[in-house]
Amino acid sequence: MRYSQYYIPTLREIPADAELASHKLMLRAGMIRKSSAGIYSFLPLAQRVLKKIIRIVEEEMDRAGGMQVLLPIVQPAEIWKQSGRWDVYGEEMFRLQDRHQRDFCLGPTHEEMITTLIKNEVRSYRELPLRIYQIQNKYRDEIRPRFGVMRAREFIMKDLYSFDRDEEGLNRSYQAMYEAYERIFTRCGLAFRAVEADSGAIGGDVSHEFMVLAPSGEAVILYCEACAYAANDEKASAALPPVTMEELLPLEKVATPGQATVPEVTAFLGVNPDRLIKTLFYQTDEEFIAVLVRGDDELNEIKLGNLINKPYRLASPEELAAKLELPVGYVGPVGLKDKGVKVLADLRVKTMKNAVCGANLEDYHLRHVNLERDFTVDTYADLRLAKAGDPCPHCGHPLAETRGVEVGHIFKLGTKYSKALGATFRDEDGEEKPFIMGCYGIGITRIIAAAIEQNNDQDGIKWPLPIAPFQVTILALGVEQQAVAEEIYQELTAAGVEVLYDDRDERPGVKFKDADLIGIPLRLTVGPKSMAQGEVEVKIRRSGEELRWPRPEVTSRVLAFLKEENQRHSN
Ligand SMILES: [Zn+2]
Repeated sequence: MRYSQYYIPTLREIPADAELASHKLMLRAGMIRKSSAGIYSFLPLAQRVLKKIIRIVEEEMDRAGGMQVLLPIVQPAEIWKQSGRWDVYGEEMFRLQDRHQRDFCLGPTHEEMITTLIKNEVRSYRELPLRIYQIQNKYRDEIRPRFGVMRAREFIMKDLYSFDRDEEGLNRSYQAMYEAYERIFTRCGLAFRAVEADSGAIGGDVSHEFMVLAPSGEAVILYCEACAYAANDEKASAALPPVTMEELLPLEKVATPGQATVPEVTAFLGVNPDRLIKTLFYQTDEEFIAVLVRGDDELNEIKLGNLINKPYRLASPEELAAKLELPVGYVGPVGLKDKGVKVLADLRVKTMKNAVCGANLEDYHLRHVNLERDFTVDTYADLRLAKAGDPCPHCGHPLAETRGVEVGHIFKLGTKYSKALGATFRDEDGEEKPFIMGCYGIGITRIIAAAIEQNNDQDGIKWPLPIAPFQVTILALGVEQQAVAEEIYQELTAAGVEVLYDDRDERPGVKFKDADLIGIPLRLTVGPKSMAQGEVEVKIRRSGEELRWPRPEVTSRVLAFLKEENQRHSN
């Protein structure tokens, strides 16, 4: 491709409303333009990257037994009402009506659509398993769309749905997808991790997220360097500390005037925060709930929400004072049962001895508080936010922390949608059974942003070769060098290399700047000096390494470079 005939509207200024590197660089490199908030046009460079990613995804989905379909964007309200999600989805759903005032939405996801389709077509266990996927535009009316294509209102997703007879079938489908995802992100040339994740609103009990590692990523990942354990911070857990052999001391009430916070109380009583029991109060429509965590721990609200499993909210100090006569800052678990409060506790609380907590009396705390003797707990669960340094739940090695961008998420849905939508098949024993489903998403447009977040410097993008818009760029610095550059361009193109030849009538400085910004992996420069010596200047964008290659060897060396790079990303 000749740059002079190609459309790459690069920008010199950094766009004011862009925060993330990927957003800035995609605008500056002339890859995207905003149409309205969170909705973008993809220009030729971005379209080339997109097509390469899609090709890798399609190849791996097909290899894992997937069959590609294309489902409608415009979906009828009925199927969403049937699954119960028409109201649940709320403001995030783009809704519209046709001329007959019938309700529709622009699909934010396709569980309802695919389940309804299969329900009407697939009748027998003989037709299972089925793995069906599509690559399609999706719509979410984000309250504050930002970060470019990272969090857009219109975006492209790959989603595959699996339909199986039984749990073993689902496990096989899930494993096939897990392995396909590993191949996809490896082939895209990205550093990534699969992490255990919370299933959230989609439902189901097992799920993994695939994270492209990047310091700017919004997700926090805790992982173990000694074993394969990795989870996002919503889900991560840690091994419990050992129970200490400690003599139980008699319960003691101590005056702690004005000492209400964890740092105040621990300093005042001269104990470590891990001695303290923090008590937090929530309420549902039916009852008050006290949640206990160790003083040096933070509560994980996602885990709490999964445990309570119904609408709940934080109880206000006024409510606590009025309804339970509890003084904020001096609350604790002792005596809560008598007030009819349900008590939940993090597992670590179980290992505590001679603890400190509020006395449920203003300006007083209790010392040497012990479980069972002084208070009881209704339910123990893992409720704390795990953090770096915690012992790995599998092997005990200290967990490390990194950040990532979520690009894929796989779920075992089970029968959630098939039951709601009445999607059944006749099994071998003649019984009608609901399909056992899984769903497996990849944010195709998000991969582009994630790849840039992971691979950039102050000058621009550093594309991994497998998804780079072009493999090689050639710069002719002056008119005298154009004949040689043209020759190399023809040679490489004939050899099947994807070349962007910068033949523009621009100053060398402009060409160098644009080449770095666009980030094509290999740059060949024909300048006056190197040409006189029968050589070509070479720069590897990723490493910054600069080389000189003899003119006659250029094509064979380029091919060798591409082969070596591609081998790094194959599997
Ligand atoms: Zn481990």
